[in-house]
Amino acid sequence: MLKFSDLGLAAPILDAVTSEGYVHPTPIQAQAIGPVLSGKDVLGCAQTGTGKTAAFALPILQRLMVDRPLAQGAQRHVRALILSPTRELASQIAQSIRTYGKNTSVRYAVVFGGVGQGAQVTALRSGVDVLVATPGRLLDLMNQRLVDLRHVEVFVLDEADRMLDMGFVHDIRRVITQLPTNRQNLMFSATMPADIRKLAQSFLKTPAYIEVTPAASTVDLIEQFVYHVHRDEKVQLLVHLFNNSAVSRMLIFTRTKHGADRLTRRLTAAKIDAAAIHGNKTQGQRQRAMQQFKQGRTPVLVATDIAARGIDIDDISHVINYDIPNEAETYVHRIGRTGRAGASGCAISLCDRSGEEKDYLRDIESLIKKRITVKTDQPQFVRSLETESAHHEDRPGRGDSRRNDRRSQQQAAPAHVASGRGRNARTGPAAHEPARRPVHHPAKPAVPPARHPVAAVATGHSIGRGPFGQNRTAAQPRRQQAVSRRSGR
Ligand code: AMP
Repeated sequence: MLKFSDLGLAAPILDAVTSEGYVHPTPIQAQAIGPVLSGKDVLGCAQTGTGKTAAFALPILQRLMVDRPLAQGAQRHVRALILSPTRELASQIAQSIRTYGKNTSVRYAVVFGGVGQGAQVTALRSGVDVLVATPGRLLDLMNQRLVDLRHVEVFVLDEADRMLDMGFVHDIRRVITQLPTNRQNLMFSATMPADIRKLAQSFLKTPAYIEVTPAASTVDLIEQFVYHVHRDEKVQLLVHLFNNSAVSRMLIFTRTKHGADRLTRRLTAAKIDAAAIHGNKTQGQRQRAMQQFKQGRTPVLVATDIAARGIDIDDISHVINYDIPNEAETYVHRIGRTGRAGASGCAISLCDRSGEEKDYLRDIESLIKKRITVKTDQPQFVRSLETESAHHEDRPGRGDSRRNDRRSQQQAAPAHVASGRGRNARTGPAAHEPARRPVHHPAKPAVPPARHPVAAVATGHSIGRGPFGQNRTAAQPRRQQAVSRRSGR
């Protein structure tokens, strides 16, 4: 099996990699490091979590050291520019440059918005070889003539699809016009729809195309479950899951910023330490929340999709889709936050059984080409499906839903009392789940009606670091024509 020492990396870089505990390059590293070292342009289809940062950072560091002696102090010019869509990802890339370059004298800086520019300008003035930046702040600094990009030799556009989603395309093009024409370009994207290919064609020169994984197999190491519940039962179920699972870190996704705040308040009220990150939080608040989550002081982080993008925290044992995303690819990105670097993980979705989330779930299943296991060993407070179907049959209209909900709760009670420790045959899923039968995980013994359903899930399958690389496959979610685009964006 390929080793890092086979890739032609110089000793200072190899030593840094070894001290990180990496032995074998990941597939993207194995395929990208050679072409990048040889100066080729690269188009990489890979998402965060596949080891792509090292795939470009290691050869860039080497090229900066070897191609030309590093200049000293303020004589240094930006020779490598890395653009990232979010501040979090930019910080993480910068952190990786620092880690992998610790035995070199390469200097780096990171610039992003949301904080004062003073310290960033000071860092730039003192001379850097590598600049990691988000597009908005970089353009600000360029407009003020505080950054000089005339000496850039390598340009990296990371998470290009997210850049486009976030509306950065014009900013990117403006940055590119300021770069020397003779340079190496690397572009990475988790998906390769037409607009991304078009962008790639506009500035990459005969790139090596690297695609690390077949579509959606990203999630092979991640156990995926769904609970079909009422929207108003989600918080209670979440509290139950948290209290009854072997959670090291739980990352919960909500669709909106307000939803994230509301949920965080409710979890806190249930005595669960939780923090929220989203675009309305200050940079300081976001960094603090991330730090505390990373250190394990706050076990639960509630995030919106954009804020969570690029979170590089290993050992997230549980990803919760509190709201099912209306874009199937977002699901793949979300659950990829667990199962990092070859570890296994658990992703649980809470699907509103009476709303459009069921349709979103169907889209997700068609994208990942598998059925997500339906959890039927729900805690007693979750209203039964039988009650639900009776409830739907005689539901006169939306206006009456409160009355019906109350009634369904009353109807549910005798069934639970009768079953005592769990769901009985009469209320069991086989009899009352015509549309969505439970799909049992093949490797998992049938879980008996448990008081702590997810504890069984979490302990039955180890959640820890597994062998990296060959059996870990990362997402290359495709925008499938068949997957209908739903409203919301
Ligand atoms: P990335 O996709 O760059 O965000 O990397 C995901 C995670 O994988 C990070 O925590 C890295 O530290 C880790 N990682 C990267 N390359 C390797 C490797 N070759 N072996 C083990 N872990 C790695």
